[in-house]
Amino acid sequence: MAVPRIIPRAGHPISRGYIDPDALRILYRLHRAGYQGYLVGGSVRDLMTGRTPKDFDIGTNARPQEIRRLFRNSRIIGRRFRLVHVFFDGGKIVEVSTFRRPPEAADTEPGGEGAEDILIREDNTFGTPEEDALRRDFTVNGLFYDIATFAVLDYVGGVDDLEARTIRTIGDPVIRFREDPVRMLRACEFAARLDFRMEDDLLQAIEEVRGEMRKSAAPRVAEELLDPLRRGWGAETYRRWSRTGLLAVILPELDREIADGSASPERETFWRMLAEADQRRGTGEAIPEPALLGALLLPLVFGAVRRERGKLDAPRLLATLEHVVNPIALRLSLPNQTVHLVKHCLYTLGRLTETRPSDASARRLVTKAWFPIALSLLSLYSHASGRYGEALTAWEEVLARAGKKVRPGEDLSHAAPFPEALVPPPALLSRHEIPLPTGGRTEDGRKRRPHRRGGRRRSTPAIR
Ligand code: ATP
Ligand code: MG
Repeated sequence: MAVPRIIPRAGHPISRGYIDPDALRILYRLHRAGYQGYLVGGSVRDLMTGRTPKDFDIGTNARPQEIRRLFRNSRIIGRRFRLVHVFFDGGKIVEVSTFRRPPEAADTEPGGEGAEDILIREDNTFGTPEEDALRRDFTVNGLFYDIATFAVLDYVGGVDDLEARTIRTIGDPVIRFREDPVRMLRACEFAARLDFRMEDDLLQAIEEVRGEMRKSAAPRVAEELLDPLRRGWGAETYRRWSRTGLLAVILPELDREIADGSASPERETFWRMLAEADQRRGTGEAIPEPALLGALLLPLVFGAVRRERGKLDAPRLLATLEHVVNPIALRLSLPNQTVHLVKHCLYTLGRLTETRPSDASARRLVTKAWFPIALSLLSLYSHASGRYGEALTAWEEVLARAGKKVRPGEDLSHAAPFPEALVPPPALLSRHEIPLPTGGRTEDGRKRRPHRRGGRRRSTPAIR
């Protein structure tokens, strides 16, 4: 068993004052009960670099059942990866996991590529702290903070890499990326958010195996695509995904429009939109998730419109949106409601730039659930392109008067789980003539009544 490099309290900046008090209580209780209690993963990395961790994960040699017995307010969750959630007031959850060992050949199944396939499918065998460090993705994510001694324990060279500001995989990058291709996206994301460099072998490995990204589960990839945008380092992350060729694998349509050297006239605006979104996130402003997705899809819509060349009337725009959005939504397994909102948001963006709030038909837009989202997208677009400033101000005034403005700091994507936060109930959707995304049936499987014909005129054509 290897001995870790031990950085005593005096040699590192992690003070207990920076650790979440509930996480600290868990660590102490584990320790008093005779178990090891370590702060693990991202929280150690963030505290070592003077950042505020998003969450404080805990590692221990106590087994899930033993952890469960120590904390009455806890639950064992997960099948593939059994760990314990400890619950606190205000909905806070601290994750406590038993140390695991890296997967071995027996844990992986031969799959599509025969014996070549080393994709991890099982990851639940308990191990030592050292083994737990070795199964982690990058050296900077493999550090432990030990509550018994207040020391940082380094089995993987993470402290040196933090000092050298380098992202390096633990072990051979080709193997680690083939085990879990999402790690390639994460490497770029960590490099972007920490402003670190990616180590040469790691970059070489991405070039070699980036095609394996296609094997990753679509919802995980979708989550990775949105996370940096939500958290305020989207521009830098997408730049790295594009430069390493990863974006060309997962979203080739987008990469074609925005990559270095692309001749697309929308390229600069796209990058400015992401930078603008990041900057707003930095000041605590909320940007609804469908607007962020809308920003990603906008260069594709513009590209398609440009290629069509003809007059862009409403039906054509709708057809273009279907054509652009559907294949990507399918590939990324985006939830129907999200797709629905994104399409509305992109469609409404066009209307907001064409009409003024003084038009009666346009004013009705304000009552739609996707109006603030579309306005948010218009705001990003307008600031990035220098166009439509007047329209933006006029619509913002209308929204402020309607009292529906998303307050700065109120983050819809985090305050409530996404669809509930933004999606109106199905009854509201059908009242506004928009067919439910489930097709001819409502969510509970009943057939929907046909829409009223005649009578009230449609203010927006239906989007399916
Ligand atoms: P943040 O939560 O701030 O985005 P993080 O480092 O905590 O950053 P998580 O996704 O929460 O990232 O993961 C927690 C830890 O679990 C990581 O620090 C890393 O040690 C380990 N980990 C996460 N994903 C993987 C993976 N795909 N392969 C190996 N280890 C991983
Ligand atoms: Mg985390």
